[in-house]
Amino acid sequence: MSQARLASCLPLPLDQKVLVNVIEKAKDWALMHGVGMRDRKNFTKDSIQIAPFVLLPSPFPRTEFTKAVELQPVLNELMHKVAHDDDFLEHTLQNALQVDEFTANLYDIWVKVRNEGIAQSVSLGLFRSDYLMQHPDGNRIKQVEFNTIASSFGAITSHLPAMSRYILRQLGHGDMIKNMPENRALSGLCSGITDAYDLFGVPTAIVLFVVEEVSYNICDQRFHEFEISETRPEIQIYRKTLNEIYEETELNDKKQLVLDGRPVAVVYYRSGYEPAQYPSNREWEARLRVERSTAIKCPSISYQLAGTKKVQQALAAPGALERFVRGAASARVRDIFTGLYALDFDDSGERAVDMAIADAERFVLKPQREGGGNNVYGAEVRDALLRMRHSRERAAYILMERILPPLVQGYVVRPGAPVPPPVVDLVSELGIFGVIIGTKDKIYSNKQVGHMLRTKLADANEGGVAAGLGALDSPYLL
Ligand code: ADP
Ligand code: MG
Ligand code: MG
Repeated sequence: MSQARLASCLPLPLDQKVLVNVIEKAKDWALMHGVGMRDRKNFTKDSIQIAPFVLLPSPFPRTEFTKAVELQPVLNELMHKVAHDDDFLEHTLQNALQVDEFTANLYDIWVKVRNEGIAQSVSLGLFRSDYLMQHPDGNRIKQVEFNTIASSFGAITSHLPAMSRYILRQLGHGDMIKNMPENRALSGLCSGITDAYDLFGVPTAIVLFVVEEVSYNICDQRFHEFEISETRPEIQIYRKTLNEIYEETELNDKKQLVLDGRPVAVVYYRSGYEPAQYPSNREWEARLRVERSTAIKCPSISYQLAGTKKVQQALAAPGALERFVRGAASARVRDIFTGLYALDFDDSGERAVDMAIADAERFVLKPQREGGGNNVYGAEVRDALLRMRHSRERAAYILMERILPPLVQGYVVRPGAPVPPPVVDLVSELGIFGVIIGTKDKIYSNKQVGHMLRTKLADANEGGVAAGLGALDSPYLL
């Protein structure tokens, strides 16, 4: 793959002595400001290590950054409307859920709760829309996906501009700071939680974070707790796994979710987005109990379903997006879509399968999963489609045109890695955070609140930071 490069913010390589010195400072800055994660290999709650980061901020075109920022409220509203259009969700997910048990389980809860009567009409969305630049298309941004559950790294990346400023000053380039946008994702995301808490309107109520058995990405999560505790000292936050929620909560006669004798105002999921997080029926029971309750869910199950890859693909079909977004805004949204195709067991699915088998490198095959590491790339797209060609199983996937981002050069700083690191070719993915609060008929709040940049080695297919592949970064606007 030959891809052109964007110029890095400073000429590379840096002088070796300067580099070693500044990395030592940067690592300490990172550790002392919580740009960290727990160690996966030697897990202990007594220490954190630096999260992988890119030493110098990576270049990003200002016009494209601004475009993504300005689009976020439009996308928030789009997803909100999709989540409240029962017919659209039902129709869109029908084929996938026949062959995807996880999506089917979520869907069943959605149907059950609707049939019983929804106890809480307000939903809270802390969303993140992700983009890669499409190099063959003048580096214009294309949407990778839209996350409606457990969108992470808003908190840590809010600290990154300050880290980059420190590093640039150490290198004698303090003047470059003006090209780095402030990032207030943390306070923005937390304001979503506290605004939802206020809408719930019960002074004794608590906030519940749904967490994994082991939280490696602890800094990002804790910063939300610290921020809320600072701005709203009266709000108590509990962290519980789905299994603990099964054991420790109950629904009272008002359908309040009760924990420790107190009603839960807001349930914020940082877990619950992948099958492994539901090892038994108890976790599904817990999820159902939460959904049945009056707690404001972040996300509601309908937001989670709206965030599936299948919905992303369906919105790209002719006329579908325009059902939800009218006028000039729909053209702006369509412009960020790349080729997306259903693999349903019908003629058009058949054509998509043939197209991808003939030219596998042009596509990515995606199942209805979150959290990274689930997609299929390159020659494996062909193998997978040849295997699934005559099986309904293929409807569990969507086919997406592969985006070809420009390369940038930089240094990745990783815990335990030799210093100085080599200059490497990298690729950046921009995420824009959005907050929305509303019911089917009324939107109380809808805003863009910040961004994150995540940069991976150019030859890695995926770049999840939590998955150990990517590195945290900040945009340097060109
Ligand atoms: P997940 O919900 O698991 O994060 P994504 O759709 O974001 O799934 O895919 C994971 C990663 O795969 C992305 O962060 C990106 O690096 C890569 N990727 C996904 N779609 C594309 C695409 N169309 N072109 C190029 N890379 C992609
Ligand atoms: Mg995702
Ligand atoms: Mg992703």
